[in-house]
Amino acid sequence: MGFDPDPRVDLARAMPMREIVDRLPLERLRREGRELVGPCPQCGGRDRFAINIDRGVFNCRSCEAKGDGLALAQHVLGCDFPGALDHLAGRSVQIDPEEVRRRRAAAERARQKAEAEAEAYRRRAIADAVTIWRHARPAEGSHVIDYLRRRGIRLPAPPAALRFKPDHPCVRKIGGRLVTLHRGPCMIAAVQGPDDRLAAVHQTWIDLDRPDGKAEIRDPETGEVYPAKMVRGSKKGGAIRLGGGGSDILVMGEGIETTLSARVLQPIGPAVYWAGVDLGNMGGAMLRVEGRRHSGEPDLDDARAFVPPAWVRRLVFIQDGDSDPEATRARLLAGIRRAQANRPGLEGAIVHPGAGKDLNDILRESTT
Ligand SMILES: [Zn+2]
Repeated sequence: MGFDPDPRVDLARAMPMREIVDRLPLERLRREGRELVGPCPQCGGRDRFAINIDRGVFNCRSCEAKGDGLALAQHVLGCDFPGALDHLAGRSVQIDPEEVRRRRAAAERARQKAEAEAEAYRRRAIADAVTIWRHARPAEGSHVIDYLRRRGIRLPAPPAALRFKPDHPCVRKIGGRLVTLHRGPCMIAAVQGPDDRLAAVHQTWIDLDRPDGKAEIRDPETGEVYPAKMVRGSKKGGAIRLGGGGSDILVMGEGIETTLSARVLQPIGPAVYWAGVDLGNMGGAMLRVEGRRHSGEPDLDDARAFVPPAWVRRLVFIQDGDSDPEATRARLLAGIRRAQANRPGLEGAIVHPGAGKDLNDILRESTT
């Protein structure tokens, strides 16, 4: 090396993410599983920004900033690399190499401990999902049917992946403690992993007195509104299998409603219909390409994203119209390209119902 490397770089890189987060002016982040989620310090929003404490990385879905603790410090403080270094490791460069080694070893121990905790958390979450699923009853004759009809979805029989719980609690960890925000009828959907096993449940709280059929979930203390949908378990690489058949075409939308709307509308003839749960799971991690805001190039090292099973010959992703179209399309394209890299010969397509619309809007317009 031509330069004496600045020992503070090692020091800052060895710093656990939790410690970095504590040193930064981050506000309004809430704990969601093993992540801190909230508005992006640069581009705002509500839940587009996430820090994964265990993996020591962050990302923003909208401005697509991502990286390690030093990158996070630059993003939050709006400064360059030396500025972030000053902030995290101080201006002094008089650091004993022995001290650097000691801190690095301590950081490695902290990382291993966090990894073991994350794995234990994942196992507990999957066990919870299995318990919720076992206690749920068949969707036949339940509020699930009424909820789907409200969304314009009429099927001869509900998919086996959908069940119902009449009095299901909505529990969230808020400020470090578990709070029951709501109890009521809930559609429980099975998320099956690539090994076919139940890995998570997707929960939608139903309120048929409201126009969209979904319950309003509000923290009684702060008034903050939370989504009526929540996943418990490990959704990575999984899907909600919503029926269809008679072909080797797999049609996948993000949500249950969009995917079932496609099944009802049958825009491309016989196919199998699975919901991919969210865009992150369908698209996976994307590479940053210089000069392109949304690269659409999959990070093939991301082993946790969805890859279709070997029987699929054609994969069709449905692009929802309600989010940033350019960013969404790039994520879906990355997912298609990842699938094709893993399944040679696979055909891929993205269908887009039109700006600002999703298939469920179209279905509701055509049934009312
Ligand atoms: Zn952002």
